[in-house]
Amino acid sequence: MKLVLIGCPGAGKGTQAKMLSKKFDIAHISTGDLLREQIKNGTELGKKVQQIMEEGGLVSDDIVSAMLAERIQADDCKKGYILDGYPRNVEQAEGLYDIVGDLDKVICYEVEDKVIVDRMVGRRSCPNCGKMYHISYNPPKTEGVCDECGTALIQRKDDNEETVVNRLKVYHETTAPVIDYYEKKGILLRTNGVGDINEIFENVCKALEGIK
Ligand code: AMP
Repeated sequence: MKLVLIGCPGAGKGTQAKMLSKKFDIAHISTGDLLREQIKNGTELGKKVQQIMEEGGLVSDDIVSAMLAERIQADDCKKGYILDGYPRNVEQAEGLYDIVGDLDKVICYEVEDKVIVDRMVGRRSCPNCGKMYHISYNPPKTEGVCDECGTALIQRKDDNEETVVNRLKVYHETTAPVIDYYEKKGILLRTNGVGDINEIFENVCKALEGIK
């Protein structure tokens, strides 16, 4: 199964992608995570993209598309994959078609901008096990510490108000046209990204019934 998850930053794509990946036993590929890994490892590529990411801009298509093309060759992608954060513009969507052909479904998580800033500025994650928290809506039992593994939680550098506002602007200008692109192809599934995480997940699973 080949899926793409679309939605503005903070729409919940990462959380839903992890749940779908577990259910369908297919790889979860987040281009944002792949890029953050490069920064963490201090690679040349990481140095090139760090500032752009901290400002909330888009990394060049060449870099991201080459990284993605390599990642989907890995063994864990043989049964399928969920792309989270890619494609982010129509050029990337066209490039993706050239690499993998037709997708099974593109799921668009719809959330209004006014909900997003609050969601993202309070977002924290565990750098060890990846578990996500929110300081008000889903706090850990002990402030600043992961419930699962006891690691100190971190805040993404680009989850501050100024950068989030810029990321939303980039999303509306550049990524929103990708939604029309897939709508015209007849594979778009729009879903409400606000509400109970499990309910959002179940709604999508129902819509995916019958796809292998
Ligand atoms: P995300 O974790 O998906 O919110 O991505 C974090 C940042 O990584 C974005 O704000 C971009 O700077 C960069 N990024 C991730 N995916 C892409 C992509 N497909 N194209 C360009 N830049 C990307």
